[in-house]
Amino acid sequence: VQGFEGKRVAVLGLGRSGLAAAHALEEGGAEALCWDDSEQGRLRAEGQGLLLHDLTKQGAFENVSALIVSPGIPHLYPAPHPVIALAWAAGVPVDNDIGLFFRSYATNDWNAFDRTPQVIAVTGSNGKSTTSALIHHILQASGRPSQLAGNIGRGVLDIEPAHDGEVIVLELSSYQTELARALTPDVAVWTNLSADHLDRHAGMGGYFNAKRRLFAEGGPERAVIGIDEIEGQFLANQTATAAGEDRVISVSVERKLTSNGWSVFAKKGFLAEWRKGRQVASIDLRGIAGLPGAHNHQNACSAYAACRAVGIGPRQIEAALHTFAGLPHRSQTVAEHCGIRFVNDSKATNVDSAAKALQAFQKVRWICGGLQKEGGLNALLPHLGNVKKAYVIGREAENFARQLSCDTAVCGSMQEAVSQALADAQEGDVVLLAPAAASFDQYDSFEARGDDFVDCVNRVIAE
Ligand code: ADP
Repeated sequence: VQGFEGKRVAVLGLGRSGLAAAHALEEGGAEALCWDDSEQGRLRAEGQGLLLHDLTKQGAFENVSALIVSPGIPHLYPAPHPVIALAWAAGVPVDNDIGLFFRSYATNDWNAFDRTPQVIAVTGSNGKSTTSALIHHILQASGRPSQLAGNIGRGVLDIEPAHDGEVIVLELSSYQTELARALTPDVAVWTNLSADHLDRHAGMGGYFNAKRRLFAEGGPERAVIGIDEIEGQFLANQTATAAGEDRVISVSVERKLTSNGWSVFAKKGFLAEWRKGRQVASIDLRGIAGLPGAHNHQNACSAYAACRAVGIGPRQIEAALHTFAGLPHRSQTVAEHCGIRFVNDSKATNVDSAAKALQAFQKVRWICGGLQKEGGLNALLPHLGNVKKAYVIGREAENFARQLSCDTAVCGSMQEAVSQALADAQEGDVVLLAPAAASFDQYDSFEARGDDFVDCVNRVIAE
């Protein structure tokens, strides 16, 4: 990382991204002053030869040029971490690894090696990981070198030196976009917006503002924007009027877009690309195993548009869509048994993503429940039409079940839910884990929850 040579830069949070930031700063000739509330984190840093500096002490920010904060640390709501408050009080700029990455990408270490990678950054409420992974997959399948980083894959500061013509695909969360002081991707992708993580952004407005920053600073060369919510429409309109209509590629799964601009939409299972009032390409998305349901058709459209923006042809993209295996824990078919399909969508941690999963399948035996998010389950109720029965797990299973309008069974454990669902299931049914809740009441992570589901499925099938 350039720009801090001979300067002192504080690093708060010594997990993967914090450690990478500290090393990158030192490589650029800065002195990294590292701190973590946990002793474990501090020991990790010491073990890697980094310098500890107690940032909680009065005066800790004297002669410090910047504070780099890890994404897990609250910087605004419900309350800023005390170290961040100290930095503010001392007038020290607060940034994160994404800001450092874009700073050096812009200035740049990269050009020094005659490399001109392009950066595609993906944000939004749902579908970020799937869309980012799909873009990466399409690029690679089309013979275009690419690296996947950010919230998925490696940390941004762990990216290998890029080759000429290489594309860097970044998945960015709202926490990351909110804090980064530089955000200048060549292509910015906005998947969609729904209520999630509102606690950390003081409501929807704050959450929207955190994500839209990706489109504000300087403006990306191309903006791929999902316009099925008003926020996306607003953003597309603003970007088009500020930067030019040809910079925006609109994406929709609810509307047919045939205006004079550039748009990609999916309707009745077909993707269509329109430019200047003419259809230029169409792809049949039905039956692509790795991308079931309208929500995945949205992801396919966003990924298609992003890849078109860096020059990949429609036929190459079409071929690559067919070979995308999908990501674990997202609409992932994990077993078929006596005509019954088992689908792991443990990543459906909020109401919107669970609603999408429920619409993607028919005859659903739905395993749900866990730690509920703000806002309750009401938004789910209109989407229970395909649900034959809900099997509710989690510590608050009874409370969760009471809020549902379909047939329910309170199961508590995953094992019980899977056994009951299988016992009830008939040929053609889909046993779907899409919890509409966080996993932390019973598991360490959504991955652990999904793995448990797969283990339980394999056990009951073997019985
Ligand atoms: P993110 O990285 O934004 O959390 P993922 O691709 O990991 O997104 O998907 C998260 C959850 O949302 C999964 O349950 C997935 O099935 C669902 N999902 C994926 N794409 C979409 C979409 N475009 N709209 C709504 N839900 C989606």
